Amino acid sequence: MITIKNVNKSFGAHQVLTDISLEVPKSNVIALIGPSGAGKSTLIRTLNALEPIDNGEIIVDGVSIHDKKTNINKARINIGFVFQNFNLYPFLTALQNVTIALLKVKGMNKEAADKKGKELLISLGLGDKFDAYPGRLSGGQQQRVAIARSLAMDPQVMLFDEPTSALDPEMVTEVLDAIRKLAHDGMTMVVVTHEMGFAKEICDEIVFMAEGKIVEKAPPSKFFTNPDSERAKNFLSKVL
Ligand code: ADP
Ligand code: MG
Repeated sequence: MITIKNVNKSFGAHQVLTDISLEVPKSNVIALIGPSGAGKSTLIRTLNALEPIDNGEIIVDGVSIHDKKTNINKARINIGFVFQNFNLYPFLTALQNVTIALLKVKGMNKEAADKKGKELLISLGLGDKFDAYPGRLSGGQQQRVAIARSLAMDPQVMLFDEPTSALDPEMVTEVLDAIRKLAHDGMTMVVVTHEMGFAKEICDEIVFMAEGKIVEKAPPSKFFTNPDSERAKNFLSKVL
């Protein structure tokens, strides 16, 4: 579903991604972990061209994302992206946040869009929040609205960049539960996370990055018990 081939990227003279190659098969869930500054956000943002790359190739669901001939707005419909800080539209209700792209991008009529939006919000435990504005929702609720908004477009891939890092601890579980449910439904996902227990439980593979490189890639059973690299051992000794 996702192929990353020999991707390099610099910000000025600072190379932040070095020769990154990775395959994510359909319905797999990959955790991207590693120290701050490793390049995790930059890498995940290249997958829907929020960041350009210097060279290499990225293919998502058959579409070459950085090819000049690609209609990136169309490609992005297929790639949900959930940010650390929710990024909801503050002047739209929860339901309107979920339906706006259905109306404006997919050209759905209001009745059908509302029906779909409500179903999604209900499935994420927000059946009583249709008319609430983001400012009146908790962080965990806002993040679940953001997930519903992405899912409304029926994406083939979901990308999450530290989806629980901005949340108070008691709200982390409800967001992780939503992502877990997507994993069980077979969604292909890349998740940047510091939630090691969660990564261990739901991910097919752990991709450990440091200094712009993939240092190690292994199933969680191996990575968390017997990592190969000193860099990973050192990182785990600090976070576990
Ligand atoms: P991570 O998400 O793993 O913490 P990032 O991908 O955010 O790492 O950052 C990787 C490196 O790229 C860091 O050194 C960071 O300072 C740098 N960086 C990220 N975004 C920019 C930018 N827009 N301009 C310049 N440098 C950047
Ligand atoms: Mg980051």
